[in-house]
Amino acid sequence: MTTNSFDEAHFSVISENIKRIKNEIAEATIKSSRSIDDVRLMAVTKTVCVEYINHAIENCGIDLIGENKVQEFLSKKDFLNLTNVEKHLIGHLQTNKVKKIVGEVDMIQSVDSFRVAQSISNEAYKADITANVLLEINIGDEDSKTGFDKVEFQESLNQISLLPNIKVKGLMTIPPICDNSLELENYFDRMCCYYNEIKEANYPNFDFEILSMGMSGDYKEAILHGSNLVRVGSAIFGARIYN
Ligand SMILES: *Cc1c(COP(=O)(O)O)cnc(C)c1O
Repeated sequence: MTTNSFDEAHFSVISENIKRIKNEIAEATIKSSRSIDDVRLMAVTKTVCVEYINHAIENCGIDLIGENKVQEFLSKKDFLNLTNVEKHLIGHLQTNKVKKIVGEVDMIQSVDSFRVAQSISNEAYKADITANVLLEINIGDEDSKTGFDKVEFQESLNQISLLPNIKVKGLMTIPPICDNSLELENYFDRMCCYYNEIKEANYPNFDFEILSMGMSGDYKEAILHGSNLVRVGSAIFGARIYN
């Protein structure tokens, strides 16, 4: 079974996966003493064919999707039933692609440098809109990952807060692969601390309401440690096959 090719039988698998994941999200949300609608489920649709994505939207109540690549999103979007569906970009964004994506998605979760933030604000200004963004933090300080490192991040906050045409809605992260759950929970806790600190600092143009962390392997732990938006791909659609 690949997620690229279309197969009728896979529709019911997707339905079952989403039902199970929604239940698990509800359990984790209640366990962390929050109201049941506090945590949003994003279906991550990279490499997934439009038939499966539309099934998730039309029959399984998915109202938030995430794509990694500008080009992939733009080539799929006309074939998707996106009425009442929020679209987020979650993959690394090069400055030369900013122009193409601003105005096309409801949020860019993967702002990982001041330059990209500035470029988004410039394009949003030209389009006469305010672009919603999250700042991506490289919480494990890994060379292989995009995202702000801690020092860069602290230095950039003031500058970013002065950009006129973006609204910073929160933080996003992909933690390192961890050997044990304690280590992983530590990263989530650290993110949650950053999130609360910045939220309370009341920067101009910041309106913190989203802490985006948790993927197929760790969304329950992420919720228990403060996430309110989980990005789930393979647990919904099956393993990805990259062409
Ligand atoms: C691919 C991806 C996900 C989803 O990963 P799964 O492990 O398949 O759930 C989430 N967030 C980002 C940024 C991704 O690139």
